[in-house]
Amino acid sequence: MHGRIALLTALGAGLLLGCGSLALAPDGLPTGTVVLEAYVPAEPATEAPGAVAVVTAVSATPAVGLPAERDTDQAYSTFDQPDDVEGYQVHFVYALPSDGADAFLDIDGQIELSANAMNYWLHNKTGQRLRYDTQDGKLDITFMRLPYTAEDISQEYRSINSLLEHWLKITGQAKENKLYIVYYDGFVVTNEGYCGLAPVPPAGIGQTAVLLLRGYNPTRDLTCPRSFTRSADYTGFFEVTILHELLHMLGVVGECAPNYNGSHVNDHPQDLMYHQYDGTYSPLFMYLDYGNDDYYNHGRPDCPDLARSIFLDPLPEGAELPPRWSDTIRNIPPDPIGGMQ
Ligand SMILES: [Zn+2]
Repeated sequence: MHGRIALLTALGAGLLLGCGSLALAPDGLPTGTVVLEAYVPAEPATEAPGAVAVVTAVSATPAVGLPAERDTDQAYSTFDQPDDVEGYQVHFVYALPSDGADAFLDIDGQIELSANAMNYWLHNKTGQRLRYDTQDGKLDITFMRLPYTAEDISQEYRSINSLLEHWLKITGQAKENKLYIVYYDGFVVTNEGYCGLAPVPPAGIGQTAVLLLRGYNPTRDLTCPRSFTRSADYTGFFEVTILHELLHMLGVVGECAPNYNGSHVNDHPQDLMYHQYDGTYSPLFMYLDYGNDDYYNHGRPDCPDLARSIFLDPLPEGAELPPRWSDTIRNIPPDPIGGMQ
């Protein structure tokens, strides 16, 4: 697609990190391939004036064992707030390491703008939107201060999905009807140019995709500019990245796709789920399943199709859960650092 390098790395023993996270084989034993991804836009997201909405979620009980204090007078939330709507929905999280600078992206409107821009693009393509978790009409964003330093987390960044989902589950926050998109605002020292991470099909399971807001390696960071959209009607680099990762959690791309290539497709370099960057990127020319034969609106009942996702609004006829959802919601991935209380 516009902006992604997919690298496959075999790990001798262990974790399946699909664009990120831990997965267990059906027998409970870890399986072992790592997919690394980096997104590479050839042009920066255009700057446009965007309305800044202030999130006014009510602060709730702090998460177990985690510091929640922050230097702001604005209301924020450290727990999922009462939902506006029922049904399967996507919940957003703003996460910081214990020593990370707070950019207040959950309360300054940036994450809500990003989420809305993501859905703007999807609606243009499909006539549907992802059902977001909102409270009183505003995006319900959870603020998460992790108990580990940026350095601790950076050393285990390939397992950051696992860490975050572990935290969501042991604190009782993970819901069986939700997927989680975490904007992680700590430096990640990576030579691979990761921008977003998620469990990928067919083996990956998980409810958590992570957007890495801060890189470190100056060379590789050129391939991952880490820029937000500034307008709800323009889908920028971060928005494309997280949409790509979210589709992975919906089972896209299935092995049954005719142009399947390692959880991605290989039939058009401007496809949202393309397997390898080709040097061009423009949201104006992005395809959601070029040819409609691999993962969107292909009409085959036996192959994962975004058009039938239960996370869409309006709800599609014959709406389907992501593959292996019962495994996903039961699985508590390990804390890769090992010190979480
Ligand atoms: Zn991917």
